This record gives sequence, C-alpha cells and structure tokens, in this order.
Amino acid sequence: MTLPSTYADRNCSLARTLEVVGERWTLMIVRDAFFGVTRFGDFAAELGIPRAVLTSRLKSLVQEGVLTREGDAPGGVEYRLTAKGIALWPALRAFMNWGDEFYSPAGAKRTFRHDQDAGLIDQDGRCQECGTVVRVPEIRIERGPGFEPTESDPVSEAITTSRRLLEPVTAARTPAPAAG
Ligand SMILES: [Zn+2]
Repeated sequence: MTLPSTYADRNCSLARTLEVVGERWTLMIVRDAFFGVTRFGDFAAELGIPRAVLTSRLKSLVQEGVLTREGDAPGGVEYRLTAKGIALWPALRAFMNWGDEFYSPAGAKRTFRHDQDAGLIDQDGRCQECGTVVRVPEIRIERGPGFEPTESDPVSEAITTSRRLLEPVTAARTPAPAAG
C-alpha cells in the first residue's frame, strides 16, 4: 500500500515510516521475525496471510532493508531482521503494550525477561533485576497471563514457547548450524 503522494511528499518522518510498516500485515511479519520465524511457509502458516500478499510484503521489507533474504540456508530461503529491522523493536513493543493495556483484560499476552537473570523487562526495555536496557537477542519471551491459545499449528506453538527473540524456530524442529 502506498500513501497518497501529497501526504508522503511532506517532510514527515512518521509518514515515511508508515510507508514502510504501516500496512496491516507488515508489522505482523516483522513481529514474527522477532519471534524467530524465518521461512516463507512458516510466516504463511502462522499469520494465515494470503501467499501473494506475503510475497509482496516480504519483497518490500527486503527492498527497504528491514529484512535480508538469505538463499543459501540448508533448508532454503530465510528472512532475517537487519540492524535496521531490529531497531523497530521499541516501537513494536510499545504497540504490544498498548494492546495489552486496552484490549487484554486478562493481562499481558506475553512477558519479556532478561535471559541472563530472568528479570522482568519493563515498558522502557529495562531489566527490573539488574537495571540494564536489555539488547534484543538477550530478551526471553514467555506466555503472559493474558495468553490465549488459538489454532495450534506447529509454528504458532513454537513461537509461544519460552525462547529468546531472533532464535530461529526452525532450529527447534531440525538441528541446524547455529544462526550467525
Ligand atoms: Zn537483568
């Protein structure tokens, strides 16, 4: 989706950002990438997104440098977040917090902990145990009190078990060389 040029042409960073991640599926794809989804078929299964739409969104995320497309992985093509993509984490976390606060009466769907000391990470990304701002690969994700199990495809199952962000879900199914 492209915003009308009259809007995008304005010198506004928010307009430019929404050009990249404002479309309905895009942040969901980015979220799944943080949760360790790397394969086309796994994104399709987890999100229930039409394949043509997924193809187009992945292509534009690669073009924008949010994802890389790596074709030499043992099991085929893999999509990974770049540093630019990982920089979206605080924004994504803020959207999730907002949804938990206003649309999840049972509490947070997911909780985030510092992998090293199991300290809860607050809304500013700081570990409540050691006080550091936790880097994305050191964040452990767990089911929160408001978690509701839905369809149980293997990918959804894998990304809702306790794991570190960016750890590929494929590693849980087939032993593969550690991600670089
Ligand atoms: Zn800590």
